[in-house]
Amino acid sequence: MQFRAVKGTFDVLPDEIGRWQKLEQAFRRMAELYGYQEARTPILEPLELFVRSVGETTEMVEKQMFALQRGDETLALRPEGTAGAARAYVANSVHAREAVSRWYYIGPMFRAEQPQRGRYRQFHQAGCEIYGDAGPGSDAEMIDMLVGFLQGLGIGGVRVLVNSLGAAGTRERYRQALKTHLSPMADRLSDHAKKRLEDNPLRILDSKDPRDQEAIQEAPSVLDLLDDDDRQHWERLCQALDALGTPYEVAPRLVRGLDYYTRTLFELQATGGELGTQNALLGGGRYDGMIKDVGGPQTPAIGFAMGLERVLLAMPEDAPARPPICFIAPIGARAQAEALLLGRELRQLGIVTEVDTRGNSPKSMLRRADSIGAHACLLIGDSELDKAVVQFKDLRAHSQQEVPRGEIAARVAALLGTDGEKR
Ligand code: AMP
Repeated sequence: MQFRAVKGTFDVLPDEIGRWQKLEQAFRRMAELYGYQEARTPILEPLELFVRSVGETTEMVEKQMFALQRGDETLALRPEGTAGAARAYVANSVHAREAVSRWYYIGPMFRAEQPQRGRYRQFHQAGCEIYGDAGPGSDAEMIDMLVGFLQGLGIGGVRVLVNSLGAAGTRERYRQALKTHLSPMADRLSDHAKKRLEDNPLRILDSKDPRDQEAIQEAPSVLDLLDDDDRQHWERLCQALDALGTPYEVAPRLVRGLDYYTRTLFELQATGGELGTQNALLGGGRYDGMIKDVGGPQTPAIGFAMGLERVLLAMPEDAPARPPICFIAPIGARAQAEALLLGRELRQLGIVTEVDTRGNSPKSMLRRADSIGAHACLLIGDSELDKAVVQFKDLRAHSQQEVPRGEIAARVAALLGTDGEKR
């Protein structure tokens, strides 16, 4: 019996892993440069945490949770990273130790969606959160950091959409305004939007249904309803982005699928490429009320989550990122013991080394060296052992030399570089 990967999940095999690692390393480098530190929180969380934070009437909580019951605990595989990080922040009283915390995370998330290109059931997000800074400087810095990050990966033509939902009071006024605008045309809306009109009218702005799209064309703009404080935050954000020279578009209909956002909201989209409608590379915003909602003190916060699969689809293809490899081919049992010793020596110098311990013929070992793209191959047989030498093959220059055993590590290091310096 054979098993397939579960619907909407996929395997990443070693020949594809280089791009993932490159992206993850670039992300870590960027985050750490901006003063974020990594936090690792559990994949399993209480289901109620997401109901409280993401919102009961969101698609994510209503339809997409991987929920499981164990005894009297109702758990969920996390659908996103912000709620778990907020829970950890509160549960560990981090607010009592430091005024501002900057965290980042990378990991798998789970949503029972209809799988398609760029949309999976297990996918990976990398994200950052700032707790304790009410912005708007931090909002601008975060958006600018992300624009630079995607550019650095070679992803051109990214659209930066920015909006403000205002604080809780504004949001409530906007809900009412949308309801008033959409109610007279309720019979022209999709069934889904009709339901949302009652419990969560902001969600209708997210709808892809052409009937809903038409109805929201003339809908009021949230930016017209901002109160004085919201407006000041919004204007200062726009000024900070202008001063940084960060390109952005004001998108008054941008809402995104989570209920916790307040004030600043943003989304970075790929244009061109193969992502089609799944072109949102990352999204984020402020969530000044969530820490309190999950039991902590009132703490302003802002964060984003970037979909790694989508960024990888948008990233240009480049040469495989494997470092140079040294291959050791021992002929006979005595030589194998020596090869293991030599392998350990080379690795101590930071050289990626594979020792062939299969006991195969020299020809088949050389085939293996070729197939993994090794740069150097070291052949050791009985006569080499007796003379204390190694046959040193430079596989790219197609040359071979006999090198004294004591000099071999330095020769390999000179050809391949150590610690990947010569990659
Ligand atoms: P969200 O957590 O919904 O705000 O999404 C943030 C980012 O995560 C999106 O812009 C996507 O890049 C990515 N993302 C969300 N859902 C999925 C999914 N089902 N499959 C792949 N990527 C996703």
